[in-house]
Parts: sequence; C-alpha cells; structure tokens
Amino acid sequence: MFEKEGMMIDEAPMTYVKKINSHEFLLGHGKPTLLSQVDIELTERCNNNCIHCCINLPEDDADAESREMSTDFVKGILTEIASQGCLTVRFTGGEPLLRSDFSEIYLFTRRLGMRVILFTNARLITPELAELFARIPLGNLIEVSVYGMTSESYDRVAGCVGAYGEFRRGVELLQHYQVPFFVKGPKLRFLQDEQEEFEAWAKTIPSMEHQPPGYSMNFELRSRRDDPLKNRTITKLRATPEESVAMLSRDPLALEEMVVFCSNFIGPPGDTLFDCGAGHGCCIDSYGHAQLCLPLRDPESVVNLHDVSLKSVLEEAFPVMRQIKATNPDYLRRCARCFLKGLCEQCPAKSWMEYGTLDTPVEYFCEVAHAKARFLGLLGADEMGWEVENWRERVERPARSVEG
Ligand code: SF4
Ligand code: SF4
Repeated sequence: MFEKEGMMIDEAPMTYVKKINSHEFLLGHGKPTLLSQVDIELTERCNNNCIHCCINLPEDDADAESREMSTDFVKGILTEIASQGCLTVRFTGGEPLLRSDFSEIYLFTRRLGMRVILFTNARLITPELAELFARIPLGNLIEVSVYGMTSESYDRVAGCVGAYGEFRRGVELLQHYQVPFFVKGPKLRFLQDEQEEFEAWAKTIPSMEHQPPGYSMNFELRSRRDDPLKNRTITKLRATPEESVAMLSRDPLALEEMVVFCSNFIGPPGDTLFDCGAGHGCCIDSYGHAQLCLPLRDPESVVNLHDVSLKSVLEEAFPVMRQIKATNPDYLRRCARCFLKGLCEQCPAKSWMEYGTLDTPVEYFCEVAHAKARFLGLLGADEMGWEVENWRERVERPARSVEG
C-alpha cells in the first residue's frame, strides 16, 4: 500500500521506465536490433598533430574537407540507423568539433533519441557548446584525450603551440557547466614524470571519482597507410612488451579482468579471420564509407553509402565479408592455432595497417601478447602460443591469480 495525492493505493507503484542494456534491446516482434552502437567519424582532420596519431590530417586540408559527408548525408545516416534500432552514436575523428555543423548534428541525433559518445581533445569546447551539453546531456561521458599536464609536454605531443591552453580552457568549461567527462591519454616515455599528477588531477573530476584514467600505449600505425615517416615515429613510441607487462601489473583491476578473460575467451580461432565484433555493428568514415570496424580501411572491405543502403550493407555485404578466411601460410601456422588470440591485439585491421594484408601476423602485437601470457603464467619462457596443446587446462587455472 502507498499514498498518492492524499489517496491510499493498494498496489506497488508501477515502473514505467525500465533501464536496459543495448544488447537486451528488442525491436517489435522480439527481434534484436541490427545495431546497438554506430561509430561515425565526422572528419579525419584535426587541430592537433599528435606524434602517435594513426589518422589525423591537417585541420586546413581542403581536399579532405571537400570530400567529407555533408550535413544532410550525416542526418540521413542518423535517421536510417535510428530506424534500425540504434541506441548510441559515437562521434569521433580526427577532431569532430572541427565540423561547423557539429551542434546541428548533435541535436539531430539526440532528437532521434540516440545517446552520444563524443571523443574530443576539448580544444574547441566553447561556452555555447558546454551549455548545450549541460542542457541536453549526451547520455554518456565525453571522452577527452589529454596529451600532457604542462604546455611544454602537451604541445610537444600535439605538435602545435598553444594547444595546451585551449585544452585547459575546454575542460574548465565542461566543469563549469557540470558536463560529465572522462580523461584518457597516451602512455609516452617522456610523459612518465607527469603520470602521478595526471592521475591525481583525474581524481578531482567529479565524474571520474570511481575510475582511473584510460591509457593507450600499443599505438596503431597510420590506418590509411599514408605516412611511412610517421609510422617510424609511432613504432619508436610504442610500449615495449616489458613496458606493456609493467603497465598491466600496476593495475590490479585490469589484471583481474585479463585473468577472467583468459579463462573465458581464449582459444585458437582456426582460419576464420573475423572472429571478433567487426561487422556486427557498423562504423562510418568521414567520407560516407561503411567499415566493418573503425580502423579497418582496406578499400576492398568498405562500402560507399552514397551507392548502397546501410540496411543492405548490414544484411548482405558484412555477413559475406565476415566469412573471409585466412590464406597466409604464416597466419595458418601461427595465429590460426594460437590459444593467445584473445589476448593478442593482432586482427585483420592491424594486419592491414602494418602490412597491407588482412592475414599477416603482426610481430609487435605477437611479442606483446607472448610477454603478457608469460607474465600471467599461461606460457613457459621458451614456449610459443601456437605450440601449446594443453591450453584448455592452462586457461582454466592460470598460474598467476590476482592475489598471486
Ligand atoms: S587529438 Fe586525436 S585525432 Fe587529433 S592528432 Fe591527436 S590523437 Fe590524432
Ligand atoms: S600471439 Fe602471435 S601467433 Fe598468437 S595470435 Fe597473436 S600474432 Fe598470432
């Protein structure tokens, strides 16, 4: 019994709004949605020129800008994905706020009822934009990339003078308007001395009270295979296998997740290349091409949405692409039989970025995965992942537990 407007009502209050996760969402007739989240890259251009970046083009690249999706085209895609039951759109880039129509696209997305995830360096946050995010919340935390805690370090990573000041102003505006955000950053050797300060600052951000900042350290090469010089720099900036293990061991939560992951999802994939989530959802690049996943830009595996509807991409093209088998003998000898596949970042996208094929084992990711597996007690010092026959036994009882 409960009281409402002076009357005693003899029933439990009815719940009118039920919060569910996107994978639980069913369309009419109990059909699952084709899409729970879509990633839309609004531009490859960026006002930063980060030394480790796999995608950015100069902010004033007129050719890139002229080929970008028009506002109406983006709205058409948003309408189509909403009709497919999409619940969340992630806007990324480059720097998505470089688009002068960003607010219009954002409002259109929210009016369609979809939540927004925004990846940004925060340099272009204005009072108007922060106020808009406060008034019409995204439904998720904004993810702000942080490239240093001083103007010297930040501008060195971002490759431009004055970037740090603009980033600080951007996050101050978000804080002033109480817009929740999350911070993350690259783990670079010359930023090591600032790590404590970065983490202490992150703790002061109200929306990050219960979570540490995110880090990237096993950087991807240029995803358009467009800049060999920059690739050489990125290769030097990547965490070594030893540094990757050290990072893993300092984070008990990540270690715990990895141990659980190992025991649940590890095992040889055989010759199936796409045993991941690629092609189950959809990513759209700045020029209107549907991609199986965000970094996979192999021209053979993308579909131009100016010619084909998204529905047919999801129902016809992607399922066929997901059946592609590996043929590279080295892949078949190693990755196809390797029980570390779930621990390893090797995938068709990484293979394409590094070698221009979908099925070449990436030596760097292979070394990192083996170092982590040895640290977790899944492999002996001289063993290779594809040689182990009793892998099932090992993943059920990893030698290193979280306490161990
Ligand atoms: S801010 Fe992001 S997209 Fe821009 S250059 Fe840096 S890493 Fe690349
Ligand atoms: S660890 Fe090496 S062999 Fe195993 S899946 Fe990764 S790249 Fe392939």
